[in-house]
Amino acid sequence: MSKSYEIAIAGAGPAGLAAALYLKRAGHKVAIFERFEEPKPVGSGLILQPTGLTVLADLGLLDEILALGSRIDRLHGADAKSGRTVLDVRYDSRRGRRFGVAVHRAALFGVLYRAAKREAVPIETNIEIDTLDTGDRPTLTCANGKRLGPFDLVVDASGARSRLRQCLGDPAVPRPLAYGAFWASLGWREGFNERALLQRYDKASVMVGVLPIGRPEAGAESMAAFFWSLKPIDEEKVRAEGLEAWKARVVSIWPDCEAFTSQIDSFDQLSLARYGHHTMTLPAGRGLAVIGDAAHSTSPQLGQGANMALLDAAALGHALARTSTVEEALESYARSRRWHVRVFQALSLSLTPFYQSDSTALPFVRDRLVAALARVPPGPQFLSTMVAGTVIDPFRPIGLAELRWGDHQAS
Ligand SMILES: Cc1cc2nc3c(=O)[nH]c(=O)nc-3n(C[C@H](O)[C@H](O)[C@H](O)COP(=O)(O)OP(=O)(O)OC[C@H]3O[C@@H](n4cnc5c(N)ncnc54)[C@H](O)[C@@H]3O)c2cc1C
Repeated sequence: MSKSYEIAIAGAGPAGLAAALYLKRAGHKVAIFERFEEPKPVGSGLILQPTGLTVLADLGLLDEILALGSRIDRLHGADAKSGRTVLDVRYDSRRGRRFGVAVHRAALFGVLYRAAKREAVPIETNIEIDTLDTGDRPTLTCANGKRLGPFDLVVDASGARSRLRQCLGDPAVPRPLAYGAFWASLGWREGFNERALLQRYDKASVMVGVLPIGRPEAGAESMAAFFWSLKPIDEEKVRAEGLEAWKARVVSIWPDCEAFTSQIDSFDQLSLARYGHHTMTLPAGRGLAVIGDAAHSTSPQLGQGANMALLDAAALGHALARTSTVEEALESYARSRRWHVRVFQALSLSLTPFYQSDSTALPFVRDRLVAALARVPPGPQFLSTMVAGTVIDPFRPIGLAELRWGDHQAS
């Protein structure tokens, strides 16, 4: 690296924290600005795919996350009424001993946050970034009117509802998707496969899922992320019918889930996640890089969001390291992520209605076609690369080599 830049990062989520680590280690002067009073994770659990795990390995954080997460070898979905398998994806369908690791969000956040603290990255909280002024050197204005900067580069990692991307002509609010979900983090219970994401469906309007997510922190109990598909417009109706009615509905779909519903005493234990879809055509502008959900957000059906955020952070870090100006680095960053982001956003948008919609035709096709595809080569291999995030190679364009899976064990 020839120059040291002054860099502001908006947002202390996975994208912002990972970017800060790459940029600080490369010798830049980095500061994170976060709107929360205390930086904290939002939501329940998620699956780190071979893509995201490769980035964490590049940052030297793989062992720490493996110690907390739960190894996932398989994604299995069955029709609630017939019990017939309609989705069966195994990471090892493709050679290379890949696996996913499901984590509590607090585990991923904690691993990245502690690393940022160790590297003395300043994290200023209670700062809500509002607008960007791209003069000679960009400056930021906060919601309370305070001005920050000037900087050589601003990294927008402020999530799906980013305001900063508006200065590149992009809308502040992603296009809402009809379905979201109730999510809860609950105690793990025996009797469920500890190495699989399990789902039950009734057409595409009902989906219930159980994901083992390991521990939020060392020494804590093992947990599960439990989710139930729900349209945000139906939330009030479900609440009005009462918790017991909702629990009875879940158990009628999947009786074993009583082990989880019995842990829920109040709707306060459930958070409703709303999903939206949006993809920036060009996630960079003068003095500004947009990464993570701020650049592309979608439903979590394919489980790629946090992994793409980590890939973006790695791509930006590697782009700055191999170019000699900020402009060149921004161009290189946008180019290196373009096709991977486009392909996975398109896959997510087209596949989500097969699992979350009011359609009866799409789940009919899903239960026959996808189930058959999953059994006949190269179907299993394709589905495996789709879930792993590698249908199109995300590594080479950003200058990263995929992790050697055989060398690693996960609990
Ligand atoms: C229910 C659910 C399940 C999911 N499951 C998966 C999964 O299995 N696998 C997967 O890979 N992904 C999953 N995702 C997606 C994943 O959570 C996101 O893609 C990921 O968190 C994006 O990281 P990010 O850092 O870009 O944004 P975020 O995690 O949203 O972080 C943005 C940060 O910016 C801060 N911020 C926002 N606005 C401002 C502002 N104006 N000024 C300062 N700070 C600001 C926020 O407080 C936050 O800390 C799921 C998402 C949901 C909702």
